[in-house]
Amino acid sequence: MGLRRTRECKAMLFPLFWCECDSCGHRFDVQVGPERYEAVVLISQGSNSPAKLIPREDPMFDKVWALVKDLLSTTVKKDIDRARYFDFIFGELCDPAPDGTPYDITGRVWCPRCHRRAALGGPHDPPKFATEEIPDVLHTHWDGLSPLQRRERVRKLLEEKKGKATY
Ligand SMILES: [Zn+2]
Repeated sequence: MGLRRTRECKAMLFPLFWCECDSCGHRFDVQVGPERYEAVVLISQGSNSPAKLIPREDPMFDKVWALVKDLLSTTVKKDIDRARYFDFIFGELCDPAPDGTPYDITGRVWCPRCHRRAALGGPHDPPKFATEEIPDVLHTHWDGLSPLQRRERVRKLLEEKKGKATY
């Protein structure tokens, strides 16, 4: 069952959305996830370079969420707000993308030409999909941390994002 499911995941089609930069007018494509909790697609802040993580196959996702819920248990009341903080720190806990910038899962998009924030447009008509397989996101730094160090790292990032975790 597990193996069969893994193969299905590899064959997943990842849609491409068009985007347009308000600042310089550049039009470009960005990878989006097929279904948020089936596979999470991260994109790098520097060049929209995609990577994926499949939560049910990678325990990091649940571990970070458990830490975020615990650390925000008294200060942030709703899970939906805690989830926003999770989105804003998760990419920074992964190893940086090949372009040297952090990955991001908030759905924000940056123009690869002028590096300002750009608007996520929508699906192409007819729809376009990625032709290459998306690599798994790496988190070797995270893997090397002790449980206490992981907690501390998450705590620090949550502190940094206080009041700034807005899309
Ligand atoms: Zn631009």
